Amino acid sequence: MNYEEILEKLKKRGTAIPELEKIVNESLEIKTKKIFEYLEKRKNRLDEECYWCNKKANKEFTSFIYESPYDENYSEHYFCSENCRDSYEEETSFYCNNCNRFIENSNGHMNHGIEYQTEYICLDCFQKEMFENGLDIDEIEDYKGAKSNLKGSFFSEFELIEHGFEKEENYFISGTVDAKEINKKIIDLYNNDNKISIINYCHLSILGDEGHIELWIKNKK
Ligand SMILES: [Zn+2]
Ligand SMILES: [Zn+2]
Repeated sequence: MNYEEILEKLKKRGTAIPELEKIVNESLEIKTKKIFEYLEKRKNRLDEECYWCNKKANKEFTSFIYESPYDENYSEHYFCSENCRDSYEEETSFYCNNCNRFIENSNGHMNHGIEYQTEYICLDCFQKEMFENGLDIDEIEDYKGAKSNLKGSFFSEFELIEHGFEKEENYFISGTVDAKEINKKIIDLYNNDNKISIINYCHLSILGDEGHIELWIKNKK
């Protein structure tokens, strides 16, 4: 039933006092709107259960989340309300401001996002940024000098080569001293040799404080 049909049906019931017709018609419109909205809502009800609680889901409250930053297709999950949808999204995923997508926080082994240039962005955006501009020097240097955390990712060697990078060196890092040395080197390469750098994680311990990494470099544009 559409809006007009509902209204006509309600109007047919008529009114005993003609003077009241205008007022009655106005309230009829409100009533019609309510019924119409209810029917629309019912139409949107899905057979699925809410992904968060177990009530009936409603198409209106669908969440589109990418399982990984590298996925081209999102998964759809249905919810009964905005509340349930928002709770789910908050708990399981983050919003990448760069590519405007909700992406699952991690795959159970590693995070799908990284804090970079004051934003939390997805690894896909981070990698594209690395291929384009290399590591931002401000990210690895503060007023005290080179920082002791390494900002990198697991790149494919093929893609690094494809984007014009060449391998500079392998490192085995343990503790924070080596990390500082590597950041210092990247800063030197940038300032003195006009090179941009990418840190490629090869094998890292669970805590990320020990393992093999590679430094890849190319000329500044
Ligand atoms: Zn729910
Ligand atoms: Zn992104």
